[in-house]
Amino acid sequence: MALSGLDIFKLLPKTNCGDCKLPTCLAFAMKLAGGQAKLEDCPHVSEEAKEALADAAAPPVRGVVIGQGAKEFKTGEELVLFRHEKRFVNPTGMGVLVSDSMSDDDLKAKVDQVNADSWDRVGQHIEVKLVALKCESGDAGKFKDFVGKVSGMTDCALMPMTEDVEVMKAALEVIGDKNPLLYCATAANIEAMGELAKEKGLPLVLKGDSLDSLAELSDKATGMGLKDLILDPGTRALKDTFEALIAIRRAALNAKFKAFGFPIIALPCEETDDIYLQGASAGIYIAKYADIVVLSEADAWLQYPLQVEIQNIYTDPQKPMAVDSKFYEIGSPGPDSPVLVTTNFSLTYFIVSGEVESSKIDAWLGIVDSEGQSVLTAWAAGKFVPDAIAKFINTSGIAEKVNHRKVIIPGYVAQISGELDEELPDWEILIGPREAADISAYLRNYVNQ
Ligand code: SF4
Repeated sequence: MALSGLDIFKLLPKTNCGDCKLPTCLAFAMKLAGGQAKLEDCPHVSEEAKEALADAAAPPVRGVVIGQGAKEFKTGEELVLFRHEKRFVNPTGMGVLVSDSMSDDDLKAKVDQVNADSWDRVGQHIEVKLVALKCESGDAGKFKDFVGKVSGMTDCALMPMTEDVEVMKAALEVIGDKNPLLYCATAANIEAMGELAKEKGLPLVLKGDSLDSLAELSDKATGMGLKDLILDPGTRALKDTFEALIAIRRAALNAKFKAFGFPIIALPCEETDDIYLQGASAGIYIAKYADIVVLSEADAWLQYPLQVEIQNIYTDPQKPMAVDSKFYEIGSPGPDSPVLVTTNFSLTYFIVSGEVESSKIDAWLGIVDSEGQSVLTAWAAGKFVPDAIAKFINTSGIAEKVNHRKVIIPGYVAQISGELDEELPDWEILIGPREAADISAYLRNYVNQ
């Protein structure tokens, strides 16, 4: 059972040394209880206290790592039912189903699309993470060849799907060193499949046929010493899956029900052949509370909006989304191209860069670190002010890239132009438009002067 902040405080050294970057041990205890600090941040905890505190430090939903290398991903570690209470932690991992009954051409086309499902958006990278490999043939040799083939085609994490332990063993001969997620153990095969997962040190999906049976299966698996588990409620209809996802996560977070303290997988690909319904179901499961979702198709029109949903849900509501502070090349700017500056609030960057792009005029867009605030807010907060802008311009290297000394500032902060002029005596300060929609016309006028 999780310990309270005061329980944790009693076990700390109480020296208030500040090595954890917090002023007091009590402040550290409160943060640890709230899941906002890690036990390792205090280097002075005794071994005895560490053991007692391990439970308090562990999130109520275990974190499980799947795959390895570039597309390895961690799932779980969730602390709250509602994003506004704190934040959601590890974004839902999206997966795509392929099977050993597919033709080589179809398989290649689908895996190529999975690999292409990779985007940079608002300064973050989003992508499909997992390929689910279904054994439909029941043939161990055929499945082994199939998983080996797919493994050579993608860096995605892999999830071999068979309830036959011998078939799973054959698959692991070729992908066992890639930390695949084994799907799945049921009441019928938990001993053998559990032993295989334990022997290989691999994460395992438990599939129940009711919440009660899933809880029993989970207790059995943890009793066998298995830790890295993923839960499949076994439901295969939207309403049932939706209810099961909520019941499992509530039990884990509100009731601290350990049997359900693991990430959850949802498989719309097994609920319907209707890809539109799969997409709609996935959107619901992502919101409540699927940690992994597997669809039957990889098409970008299907995956991209779901990735955007994940991104929106899993960003920290207390931190504005920001892009890196630097000069961005819009088009192929040269020494004569216009130089603009604005703030690093993601929305500001994307609106301004989009408008510059649509003007078809190559430009240098300078993004000043304003702690993710928009232009007027950042100005009012003292973040987008003459000395900050001047410092950015002087240290960015833009002076070596252009042969003019003109910088365009947003029209909303026209009032800082005089002071900025003093901070940047070599530069001419030009007042840009107030609204991003007018940037295109402004730039066309600028280059025609
Ligand atoms: S580092 Fe440990 S002992 Fe020092 S103030 Fe933080 S919690 Fe207390």
